[in-house]
Amino acid sequence: MSESIQNATFEQIGEIIRQHESFVILSHVRPDGDAIGSQLALGFALKAAGKKVRLINEDGLPENLAFLRGSYKIETPPAEPIDAEIAIALDTATKPRLGEKSLHAASNAKIWLNIDHHISNPRYGDLNLIDDISPATGQIIYELLLALHLPIPDETRDAIYVAVSTDTGSFQYPSTTARTYEMAADLIRRGLDVGEINSSTYDNHPFRRLELLRALLNTLERSADGLIAHWSLTEDVRTDLKLRPEDSEGLIDTIRSIEGVRVAAFFEELFDGKIRVSMRSKDIRFNVCQIAAEFGGGGHALAAGIRMTGPIEEAREKVLAAIQRAIVAHG
Ligand code: AMP
Ligand code: MN
Ligand code: MN
Repeated sequence: MSESIQNATFEQIGEIIRQHESFVILSHVRPDGDAIGSQLALGFALKAAGKKVRLINEDGLPENLAFLRGSYKIETPPAEPIDAEIAIALDTATKPRLGEKSLHAASNAKIWLNIDHHISNPRYGDLNLIDDISPATGQIIYELLLALHLPIPDETRDAIYVAVSTDTGSFQYPSTTARTYEMAADLIRRGLDVGEINSSTYDNHPFRRLELLRALLNTLERSADGLIAHWSLTEDVRTDLKLRPEDSEGLIDTIRSIEGVRVAAFFEELFDGKIRVSMRSKDIRFNVCQIAAEFGGGGHALAAGIRMTGPIEEAREKVLAAIQRAIVAHG
């Protein structure tokens, strides 16, 4: 099948689901709550509908999401391709972000579905459902399950809530809509325990995450005009504190919250020598997805990322200069 520019309808996706038996569901490397949550949500719904389902992630299940019901189903990619007719990529802006081993594991699939909310998604599936207005892929999955009258078992219910909660900064970002709250209300009526799930998501961090925050605060810098704040994580700190990739998830919100700051950036040395850049904007005039695209990255207008070559000092200099240029051009 050729790549399709137009969005598939829920009904077209429903047809594919009805006509096939075996599915492999994938999400992006270094998975966040929306990636894992969307996989579990769709995976357990399909399983409850009698389908054969495998849930694969290049980096496996992060420790901070292990509290999710059914999370044991998330596997790292097996060496041999999986016997699945349909591959479904969730929350993944570009196909390579699924990871090489995952792509190999899914290589027997004859049809690819690409369901995502990244505006930069180039529609790499045979069928694509890209809704860049949706605050999270989890919310797209919710709408899909309702439209197709698929089951919503407890695993799915909880996973949708966590997917959307983590991608909206606890239902705070401007992408949050009335529909998002209606969805949350519906999930609560279906038996979701709000207190428990929020406590597991936000009140249960390992101590080393606070040690990381302390180390990051020591590197905090702000531009002379106060519009940009940034901090950095070097590999020696990561090794010293025995950090796991998910430990920094969400910490960037701390510097995004500074009065006057419009753009926040986080620079991180990875083991492979690459630099991971996270950016957040508080101002729609400064589109961090566009800035990320200059370096081959992507994401959303207000939250985007890059994986680029180091060294970290050089990457920082280039990206900060691009942010400055965007502020001068659009400020
Ligand atoms: P992060 O800062 O890692 O939380 O990512 C912010 C947003 O940008 C998320 O929606 C990511 O999926 C997306 N993103 C992060 N890194 C990249 C990348 N290298 N290429 C495309 N999208 C990315
Ligand atoms: Mn994600
Ligand atoms: Mn997402």
